[in-house]
Amino acid sequence: MIKFLIDNVLNDKPYTKHDLCVILQAKDDDRQYLFKRAQEVKEKYIGKKVYFRGLIEYSNICAKNCYYCGIRRDNKLLERYTMTNDEVLEAAHFAYTNKYGSIVLQSGELSSHSYTQNITYLLHEIKKLSNGELGITLSLGEQSEETYRQWYDAGAHRYLLRIETSSKEHYEQIHPNDEQHRFENRLKTLHTLKKLNYQVGTGVMIGLPFQTYEHLAADLMFMKNFDIDMCGMGPYIEHKDTPMYNWKVDLLPLAERYDITLKMIALLRIMMKDINIASTTALQAIDPIGREKAITIGANIIMPNITPKKYRDKYFLYDNKPCADEEAEDCVRCLEMRIKFAGGEIGYNEWGDSKHFLNKKIHDSTD
Ligand code: SF4
Repeated sequence: MIKFLIDNVLNDKPYTKHDLCVILQAKDDDRQYLFKRAQEVKEKYIGKKVYFRGLIEYSNICAKNCYYCGIRRDNKLLERYTMTNDEVLEAAHFAYTNKYGSIVLQSGELSSHSYTQNITYLLHEIKKLSNGELGITLSLGEQSEETYRQWYDAGAHRYLLRIETSSKEHYEQIHPNDEQHRFENRLKTLHTLKKLNYQVGTGVMIGLPFQTYEHLAADLMFMKNFDIDMCGMGPYIEHKDTPMYNWKVDLLPLAERYDITLKMIALLRIMMKDINIASTTALQAIDPIGREKAITIGANIIMPNITPKKYRDKYFLYDNKPCADEEAEDCVRCLEMRIKFAGGEIGYNEWGDSKHFLNKKIHDSTD
């Protein structure tokens, strides 16, 4: 029965949220069947290539207060930092000379004029130092349309903004109830990014308090209906200095959160065959070869951390984040080996843009 449902999704036949719920609970043989089909879809539509996005964690200062996040504004136990512009450019140069093809610039959410202008400056400089060759993804939270436009014009062309959960009610359970944390704003912002021609990525956390299989199935439907270009989703891992840590006793065991994440990735791969799917570091925090497993069953993007080592232990969104004590050079050598082990090959010097996005553009221009 579950295999039949998986085949329906695979063959783009009509399916329901309930079908997705059932698939997400697949066990043993059915679970393997899901992973096998996802692996085949990935090989057919994406190929073996895995693309690097050198991750630069620019600043851990954040104006927001999400209940689950280690760098939330009210966490006073954290030493705050912002990388200097020279450090950011040095990291970008490292990515460029090591043929990463792309970087991700990520930070807590800030929207002051000096912050947004400095990002624009950095984008111009990164483009300059790489002769326009480094692709740039931003992950800098909710911003105004004007800011997004300015950053796009300065050279960013992909944007990651996780919805975290597509249920308004659930969103409100995991965020403070104030103007800064409105579900409607998050949705509106995702639409703005799409309108401005960014390749848009979103994603959810898996295994959150109050979350059900129905929520997760709805999340997958949301991503399909929004027609996302990229996805980054990972298991929720609690951070001891956050309000959500109080719900720790109600959580699924880590191994289960991890397993559902793999099934979410595999199922999304067969639902949206040509999107980019990131294999997130949170998977590795649970299983040392978690990221490789995700690559095997559907993911095609890895984000090696190239933030200077001195800042690494200050950007903990969750506890036990891996590779915090490695230099970028060690990190890339280790990853090369890991990706080979997962049967993939690295797309050096390539942007590795979302094929889904590119296919949509071709389709639009021929309409
Ligand atoms: S999840 Fe993002 S916006 Fe929320 S507190 Fe953390 S860094 Fe800030």
